[in-house]
Amino acid sequence: MLLLTSLLQAQGTAPATPLTLLSREGRRPVPTIVLNGQELIALDDVAALFQVTVREDTLAGGITMTYDGQTIVISNDQPMASVSGRLVALPSPALRLDNRWLVPLELLPRALALIYEVPIDLRRTSRLLVVGDLRVPRVTGRIDSAGPPTRATIEISPAAPVTVTIEAGRLLVRIDADALDVGLPTNGAGLIEQMREGDQPTTVAVVLAGQAGAARADPVEAGGVTRVTINIAGAAAPANVAALPATAAPAAAPPVGAAAAPILTRSGPLLQTIVIDPGHGGNDVGVRGVRGVDEKTITLDVARRLRTLIEMRLGVRVILTREDDRAVRLDERTALANNSKADLFLSLHMNAAPVENVAGAEVFYLRLDREGEDARRAAASEAVVLPVLGGAVRSIDLIRWDLAQARHVEESEVFAGILEEHLRAHVIMSRRPRQNAPLRVLAGVDMPAASIEMAYLTNPEQEQLALSEAYQDSLARAMYDAVVDFRAYLEGQRVP
Ligand SMILES: [Zn+2]
Repeated sequence: MLLLTSLLQAQGTAPATPLTLLSREGRRPVPTIVLNGQELIALDDVAALFQVTVREDTLAGGITMTYDGQTIVISNDQPMASVSGRLVALPSPALRLDNRWLVPLELLPRALALIYEVPIDLRRTSRLLVVGDLRVPRVTGRIDSAGPPTRATIEISPAAPVTVTIEAGRLLVRIDADALDVGLPTNGAGLIEQMREGDQPTTVAVVLAGQAGAARADPVEAGGVTRVTINIAGAAAPANVAALPATAAPAAAPPVGAAAAPILTRSGPLLQTIVIDPGHGGNDVGVRGVRGVDEKTITLDVARRLRTLIEMRLGVRVILTREDDRAVRLDERTALANNSKADLFLSLHMNAAPVENVAGAEVFYLRLDREGEDARRAAASEAVVLPVLGGAVRSIDLIRWDLAQARHVEESEVFAGILEEHLRAHVIMSRRPRQNAPLRVLAGVDMPAASIEMAYLTNPEQEQLALSEAYQDSLARAMYDAVVDFRAYLEGQRVP
């Protein structure tokens, strides 16, 4: 971005959000600067972007811009341009800075668009310069009533086909368009935590609050505008759920006025992606057993077995935080899980104790009760020592306040409980089979999460066991069963 740098050196400031040129060929950034409140673009950049010829006309006191035999004359003392003899107003005259001519950005839609062979549309709010016949509808959102029930509307103008999917914790509105010109409220309200652009192109995500219950979205097209009406009920009290008859209630009649059926309203699977985190790797071997078995090796072996089971039998996507023996930082692990929008995170480790006879598997999850709070507060630095089985202490990476896990702690506790139950059926458990601790790798992930210490490598018997295929398979099988049960729980088919 050499052009932009040299412009900035001149004196202006870069706009808060860069301008993006959007065309059939894709997106590209357009360098502009803001000078005295005006957004300006260099004429040589315009020449390069639009294949126009630019020539300074010292005699006329301006610049001529030629495209396909037609000419625009831009004045350097009047805020205007002449397009094939027709005068067009601009916010300011052309301006010379160093050796370059700068013109107001409005020149593009107001003057160049008149002679250019395809439309040029400047969308100020979305910072898009749309070149060509692209469908870029204006998409606005508003929360009509905080409720509960919370009611909101998303408007798409001009109308465009939309698909609405409701998945764990959010409602995704996919709009059939080339790009969106989006204006959404900054803050959520009621059961809507946030309305934002989705991670995929041309989607809008309505992020639901933790206490949100059933959500419903009905797209209706009228008057050239598509309106998606969103209704979110509060979560029903557990007592009411229990009181429901076992048979499903008949589907509610469609609301009056919604003659046109929703284009699509359905629930997506609630468990689509699982991230399995084989602890340690590379130079970080983790715990080393008395016979020299490294934690990093066992965690990867078990992770691979578990991945195969889940992918083959559940058809759920599984991502490993590392595929081989390499070092991966904790924040890279959590970032991978968060970026892949995983629905579940499971970290695998092997344990250590100062005495040999300590044995068994342990499940960890994050809970912000007093114990966790105290540990967090006690930490002057990132690490804190916590007492462990056998009277020793161990150092644990601590969380920070901005922990993503906070809103998943309840589901994580449920998952930890299910894990413990299934591990117990397959392997030896320790005397403290389920614990909560402020583990940093769990704190950072924005999804239900747990960590398993699968066995004690400091116990020679357990070390031997950990190496065996049978034991690794038992572990993988137990975790697989737990994933199946947790999915049932998410889908409301299992009471924790
Ligand atoms: Zn470990």
